[in-house]
Amino acid sequence: MKQAQKILIIDDVVINLHLLDGLLKTDYTVLLAKTGQQGLVLAREHHPNLILLDVVMPEMDGFDVLQALQTDKRTKDIPVIFITGQDHPEDEARGLLRGAVDYITKPLNEVVVKARVATHLKLERQRRMLETLANIDGLTELPNRRQLDQVYHAEWERAQRNQLPLSVAIIDVDNFKQYNDHCGHAMGDRVLQQLGQLIAASLGRPGDFAARYGGEEFVVVLPATTTSGAWQLMENMRQAVEKAALPHPASSVASCITISIGVASRDVHSNAAELLQQADQRLYHAKHRGRNCVIGDSHSITTPQQIA
Ligand code: GH3
Ligand code: MG
Ligand code: MG
Repeated sequence: MKQAQKILIIDDVVINLHLLDGLLKTDYTVLLAKTGQQGLVLAREHHPNLILLDVVMPEMDGFDVLQALQTDKRTKDIPVIFITGQDHPEDEARGLLRGAVDYITKPLNEVVVKARVATHLKLERQRRMLETLANIDGLTELPNRRQLDQVYHAEWERAQRNQLPLSVAIIDVDNFKQYNDHCGHAMGDRVLQQLGQLIAASLGRPGDFAARYGGEEFVVVLPATTTSGAWQLMENMRQAVEKAALPHPASSVASCITISIGVASRDVHSNAAELLQQADQRLYHAKHRGRNCVIGDSHSITTPQQIA
């Protein structure tokens, strides 16, 4: 079932809360708050899709609440509609200037309230969809490089702050140009989709992250994972791809699609860019060793026995 969109209503006058609740609750999930403080707590906890905010309230007024919402990362993107009294038209201009998306005047008109709410929920849905699309690779539906950059940067900072290990791996399809030349680009695209699924399925922990880096390359970020653990995980991934036995009629390595992988782990001397470079160098070594292998540090290299 489609999940109902959530609306938070903040108003100190209980009659107004009930009135708005009555208008909206059949179509949406409605949350009610009698004070600005209560509203902020609900907004942070429930991430509503839209907030209807009364301007005139004792203690914290609508402008204070709006400002608090805007300065919190968790709530800054939630659209806010101001509810203003007709006797204070200047509130509307002030609210819009401060970043409210719209305003509704009291006494409340049912048709106007429903129409404005529907419009802003639609805009909010479209904004979220665009944001998702901007971070996803269209072919494999894995996160794209843009999202990788954000996640990798955040994980790097976290690892450094907490003195935890962090590993990255770069995966490159072997002889993929020949595959395209032999089987056609459309089949090549299909293989990249299948590899995307195999790669994602090989990752076990919630923090593990895989992205399409570009072309026929993928990157995996493994928080709190040491080189040997990361190498083993990637070796399992390599074997899973081999087992999937996707035919490659023109490979120099095997009769099926294979991948080569370089793995590197953070140490106190490296920075985020250097770590990726190190993984890339190890990938290059993996290609030179004959492909279809995983290279981490000197102890972590796929042996010929491991190759099917
Ligand atoms: P190596 O084993 O050394 O990695 O050789 P390779 O042929 O895989 O590497 P190379 O960099 O020479 O070629 C990569 C190929 O990947 C060339 C390009 O056509 C193909 N490729 C990149 N992106 C896509 C894509 O989105 N779809 C398809 N079908 N092919 C792609
Ligand atoms: Mg490549
Ligand atoms: Mg390649």
